Amino acid sequence: MTDEQLLRYSRHILLDALGIEGQQRILDTHALIIGAGGLGSPAALYLASAGIGRITVVDDDVVDLTNLQRQIIHTEARVGMAKAASAQVALAAINPAVDVVPVQKTLAGAELDALVASADIVLDCTDNFATRHAINRACAHHRKPLVSGAAIRFDGQVSVYDLRRDDAPCYHCLFPEGEDVEEVRCAVMGVFAPLTGIVGTMQAAEALKLAAGIGESLSGRLLLLDALNMEWRTVKFRQDADCAVCGPNSAGRSGEYPGQSGAHHESATPACRPA
Ligand SMILES: [Zn+2]
Repeated sequence: MTDEQLLRYSRHILLDALGIEGQQRILDTHALIIGAGGLGSPAALYLASAGIGRITVVDDDVVDLTNLQRQIIHTEARVGMAKAASAQVALAAINPAVDVVPVQKTLAGAELDALVASADIVLDCTDNFATRHAINRACAHHRKPLVSGAAIRFDGQVSVYDLRRDDAPCYHCLFPEGEDVEEVRCAVMGVFAPLTGIVGTMQAAEALKLAAGIGESLSGRLLLLDALNMEWRTVKFRQDADCAVCGPNSAGRSGEYPGQSGAHHESATPACRPA
């Protein structure tokens, strides 16, 4: 670490649990952030300010005026710009040492697979079930920790699926694909601005802990926030032994690549989170 890095990250290094070793591991980490919206904005800003070595930001959308109420990585001057490129501008202004790789496309299939394989930690900051399941399958296959967040109206959720571990539950264990879920269309739903900040910031916190190798992650725990009454609830859950994605007998774990069924639901309605 250079003298400037020692200064820049001194308030991290001063933390007993983190120290120089933890900060060095953060500097050596490649985080993949899928979605540069309400959740991806604060997550990316904190990961960059904290010195994550490389951030790949994926989003196929462009900045719109209606985004600015909560997607704090973007600015009015960048309305019309690709969100991934806009995020790169913001992150470079905070910490130019971070290698930011913008990807302006919808990730699926082999491209999703390759990007997940190249990352150390994946942050799911997306807003629809099909993509969430596809990301979960790729993370299970490549044994990458997945930090997942969701926010709609005044309701937030955050959890970690630590798929490096054989016994850790995955997103599919908690929200099985194909079950009847109330599809909530984000495009027409309201969302409380700071809620996305709270959830996205918690995703950054969990990602930094995983990167540094410190503390207890949210693996096996789903935190639910009712921001209207500002109440948190914790739901504990375990691996589903019969899970098709992460279970001991699943194709994804036995070396074969898990099916892509969920990745190509052309008619799937974009949804913000399970009801
Ligand atoms: Zn599972």
